[in-house]
Amino acid sequence: MNQLAIDGGTPIRTKAFPQWPVYGEMEERLLLEVLRSGKWGGSTPDKLKQLEAKFAEIHGAAYAVSVINGTVGITVALQAAGVRSGDEVIMPPYTFIATATSSLLFGAIPVFADVEEDTLQLDPEKVEAAITPRTKAIVTVHIGGASSNMTRLKEIADRHHLRLIEDSAQAVGAQWEGKGVGSLGDLGTFSFQSSKNVNSGEGGMILTNDKDLADMAWSLTNVGRIREGAWYQHEHIGWNLRMTEFQGAVLLGQLSRLDEQLAVRERNGGLLTELLSETEGIEVLRRDPRITRHAYHLYMFKLAPELAESVDKNDVIAKIAAEGIPVSAGYVSLNLNKAVLNEIERWTGSKPSYSCPISEKLSSKQAIWVHQNALLAEESDMHDIAAAVKKVVHSLKIKN
Ligand SMILES: *Cc1c(COP(=O)(O)O)cnc(C)c1O
Repeated sequence: MNQLAIDGGTPIRTKAFPQWPVYGEMEERLLLEVLRSGKWGGSTPDKLKQLEAKFAEIHGAAYAVSVINGTVGITVALQAAGVRSGDEVIMPPYTFIATATSSLLFGAIPVFADVEEDTLQLDPEKVEAAITPRTKAIVTVHIGGASSNMTRLKEIADRHHLRLIEDSAQAVGAQWEGKGVGSLGDLGTFSFQSSKNVNSGEGGMILTNDKDLADMAWSLTNVGRIREGAWYQHEHIGWNLRMTEFQGAVLLGQLSRLDEQLAVRERNGGLLTELLSETEGIEVLRRDPRITRHAYHLYMFKLAPELAESVDKNDVIAKIAAEGIPVSAGYVSLNLNKAVLNEIERWTGSKPSYSCPISEKLSSKQAIWVHQNALLAEESDMHDIAAAVKKVVHSLKIKN
């Protein structure tokens, strides 16, 4: 096979992958409308109202509350669900740090339960084993845009009288058994930060089917006001966590492309799985057949265990990147993050220790990511990704 690009060979490709974000005439028109209306803030919602209605409908939820970002969206969901300082919140360690900081912000204590080796999703059986009398909620994360096992998680949450919150930051439009993520647990939260599949620079959304939870989430994001109350009638301690109308305008435009983009990512994600599953030294993730729509915020694959033991993952990534393919190493398992551990100790007074060997091994040695914008490319571009991975893995196997 050809010499690797990193050693001076010809790269598999030099063509760029699609730019992100994607926007058009609709965003421009709606932004101008907001500008000219003079009503720019979230306290006079028009675009935000339309956005909330549309977002709830897409996911099959009864209520939607917009919020400044995905991180505090989780905080608000936890607080609306009755989680208080000192309560334990079970969550996966293979996620963005915000999943943990959203609890730590007000002294709720993250408890990490390991992920499934073949999906990288929160393992429901590990959740059950981590429940204590102080456990109040489970925050599952639909990592990469694939739904976690909501059927099993709901059973466990119901049996133990725990709140179930879905961190759906990466999963706009994803479905479990035909139902939108974010509408399956007690509350679901989303992010519209720049890298996410639907983007307004920053922003977030909270979904629920429970009117009381929706009202509380609205109050917490609106300085403790109540919906039909007077302007200076504050009945809870809340904050100003409102998005602006400009973000609402951009998001209405972004959502008009959602179905089409989801279909392209599904097609390309499926093709990549087909191509990479034939590549020796690579393992693809298992897709639960109950995932009826995958949002593919990330395409994640793994170095097979034997290969992973004999190579440095970062070296493999550098070699694939040199072939012209944007890959990255992804998260460090949160149960090893010093800031998170120190903050837990600060709140509880004792040093936490969590055993998450699967997440640790997958994050340090095996998991490799391709970001969603690459999945918006052509089918032939997926062949390039697979060819680059194959070329690099093949060269490693020869060396070993
Ligand atoms: C992006 C992200 C968040 C945080 O969202 P922000 O809008 O950046 O605050 C939370 N959880 C996960 C899994 C994310 O990917």
